[in-house]
Amino acid sequence: MKIRFDAIVEPGLTVQVTDSQWFPEADCGRVGPVQANLSFTRQERRVFLEGRLQYTGCFECDSCLEPYSEEQDLFFTIEFDYLAANDPYWLAEEHQCPQAEMDVEVLSEPEIDVYSILAQQVILSIPAKRRCSESCRGLCPSCGKNLNNESCLCRNREANSPFQVLAQLKVK
Ligand SMILES: [Zn+2]
Ligand SMILES: [Zn+2]
Repeated sequence: MKIRFDAIVEPGLTVQVTDSQWFPEADCGRVGPVQANLSFTRQERRVFLEGRLQYTGCFECDSCLEPYSEEQDLFFTIEFDYLAANDPYWLAEEHQCPQAEMDVEVLSEPEIDVYSILAQQVILSIPAKRRCSESCRGLCPSCGKNLNNESCLCRNREANSPFQVLAQLKVK
């Protein structure tokens, strides 16, 4: 889905995306529907996008390695500047120091690739630290049991003797 700048007229253009063909499945698992609400406004060669993206991502917990899902509700704003090659507009000072608080994308064509913007937002939203819950107890480093589901005696034994862990490994 591409939106050309000249399709964005006063008072702006609102687009809803409910299909999910663009979703970066290879980078992020997902369950259920995807919904994006995008509103575009334009000032000549600049387009401002305010977007909301909702999906349910599937991740693997870093701690217990179990899959879990998490609802994502993302709000983002991006400014798109259309600048043709060799355009003297490039030299304008404001473009040399774009405002830090907003993402600015410089386009060589006056059109916005909506699907790639959405895919990019999904990838940015993937949590760096993935935990199935705040209270996840993870796997026992000695016996590998998922401590959310069952308990083990390793910790007590370790306290008695650090060699107990080695002994256990040999038994395996
Ligand atoms: Zn976990
Ligand atoms: Zn254990």
